[in-house]
Amino acid sequence: MKVVLQNLTKKFPGRGKNKTDEVIAVNDFTFEIPDGKLIGLLGPSGCGKSTCLNLICGLLRPTSGKIYFGEDDVTDLPPESRGVGMVFQNYALYPHLTVKQNIMFPLENLKGDKKMTKQAMEAKALEAAKLVQIDMLMDRKPGELSGGQQQRVAIARALVKTPRVLLLDEPLSNLDARLRLQTREEIRRIQTETGVTTIFVTHDQEEAMSISDLIFVMKLGVLQQIGMPQDVYDDPVNLFVAKFLGTPPINVFAGRVKGQKLYIDDLPLIDVPGVKDQEVWAGIRPEGFILDEQGPLVCRFGAVEVMGRDISVVSYHDACQSPTVRSIIDADNHVLPLEGKVRFSVKPHKVHIFNKETEERIRF
Ligand code: ADP
Ligand code: MG
Repeated sequence: MKVVLQNLTKKFPGRGKNKTDEVIAVNDFTFEIPDGKLIGLLGPSGCGKSTCLNLICGLLRPTSGKIYFGEDDVTDLPPESRGVGMVFQNYALYPHLTVKQNIMFPLENLKGDKKMTKQAMEAKALEAAKLVQIDMLMDRKPGELSGGQQQRVAIARALVKTPRVLLLDEPLSNLDARLRLQTREEIRRIQTETGVTTIFVTHDQEEAMSISDLIFVMKLGVLQQIGMPQDVYDDPVNLFVAKFLGTPPINVFAGRVKGQKLYIDDLPLIDVPGVKDQEVWAGIRPEGFILDEQGPLVCRFGAVEVMGRDISVVSYHDACQSPTVRSIIDADNHVLPLEGKVRFSVKPHKVHIFNKETEERIRF
């Protein structure tokens, strides 16, 4: 089931005397989520991700705009008539009910010709439990489960009514690092097996990149870029997107273009054909540095951190926005700082330049 948002906007009115604290949490979203895909809705805390999800599931009413599931206009439907499954960060299980009762809960209130017998409900619950591999825990209470198991119960409960759309709001945030990794692989498997169109909300770029077919990057209620994870990483539209994706993050320097060449120090770094002379932000991905004794970028040497396959060279440069420059080099390369300096050349396709004022990408 494809999901279409059309000029969807949600404003929260201000409360103060002058109403200066009005928030446009979702600002004119128009996009289509293809049938059967898992999309990652990604952005920093407070950018409007949960608001967007709550509009899609019907817990919030939009200020303006439309929501379609397939050809159905669901904008005015209550949540229970939309056919969505929702999973929250804090699981939201009923503590006094068993796992089986929790999973069956959404089926208990079905009315009319949708009403199910107890036997049919139990069979459905078992099917959902098997899918998330908790069918051996059916008689336990949530308090007797680990965080990862509780989240699986919440996912089973969201799937039991065979939703048209599955919505996950930061479902992994309460889990420890290892469980997070495992559970996100699980979610991908379940999504692939069921083929249910899924929206996965997270502020964690690595999480979104690793499981999504498409990522939607947003900032302060405004959609910035939509694309396949690798494409958005390689081809960001602006400095915000470039900085938001990637660990360690992209290194941003105050640079300048002169005579169609990019400079940070006195030697030209790369050619930027067609770009007119101007001050720019120059972003260099950590993997874009090459150790080079004659290299045009001269940094003060800080430290070498060995990370197994790669080494990370930490250095300093006055033109860099952040305190340290982080470069990732093959472990085979030897770092020999000369008089406390380390010099780099760069891989041109790992360098992006941005307008100093608008922070839009300048292509070359
Ligand atoms: P995210 O999920 O990306 O962290 P939210 O969607 O929760 O962000 O919030 C987006 C913005 O809307 C924030 O500025 C938040 O303060 C505001 N907001 C969210 N819910 C309400 C509400 N019920 N009333 C007023 N402002 C709200
Ligand atoms: Mg949120």
